Amino acid sequence: MARTIVLPYEINDKVTNLAAKLQEEVCGVLLYTQHQELCPVEYLFITGAGKVNQVSTLPTRLAVLNEFYKLVPAMKYVEFHTHSAGTIRDCGEYYARNFSGQDQQMMLERFSDDPAYLHLLFTPVKKILASCDDSQATVIKAWSNYRKRSREIGTALNLIAQEMEIDISQLPVMQIR
Ligand SMILES: [Zn+2]
Repeated sequence: MARTIVLPYEINDKVTNLAAKLQEEVCGVLLYTQHQELCPVEYLFITGAGKVNQVSTLPTRLAVLNEFYKLVPAMKYVEFHTHSAGTIRDCGEYYARNFSGQDQQMMLERFSDDPAYLHLLFTPVKKILASCDDSQATVIKAWSNYRKRSREIGTALNLIAQEMEIDISQLPVMQIR
């Protein structure tokens, strides 16, 4: 079933801004609860940062997420990464509008494990959603319940992290704004 990933503009702006301002790429997940074909994104969780083709997820942050998925099985995710200003400067304008060959290889592997897998690329100028079923991403103003949901998820992740004695307060990248 083709899905529509509904991104609140503030999450879209934040990740687009990271792509536009940072030399490093960042990666992470966009958490959502699916309602038929609609997938409203409720939380942005950055899991790692790094140079081009070296961006990798921090195992500690992934461990917290995995624990969260166990406790909240209805929560689904879109993985994402950025092609940053640094990537485009060093590797070429092509990467402002396309996945890399390495990205495509990684996604093929993920799709063969899980046909429902979704991956969103953010560049300073464009978003590209990769899916097996022609899913789309759209940006809207946040809906009424968004901030409440976002706070609840943030609180749950922080509690899990505390219990695991993992510090998730420090982002893997310098925070902008
Ligand atoms: Zn990439």
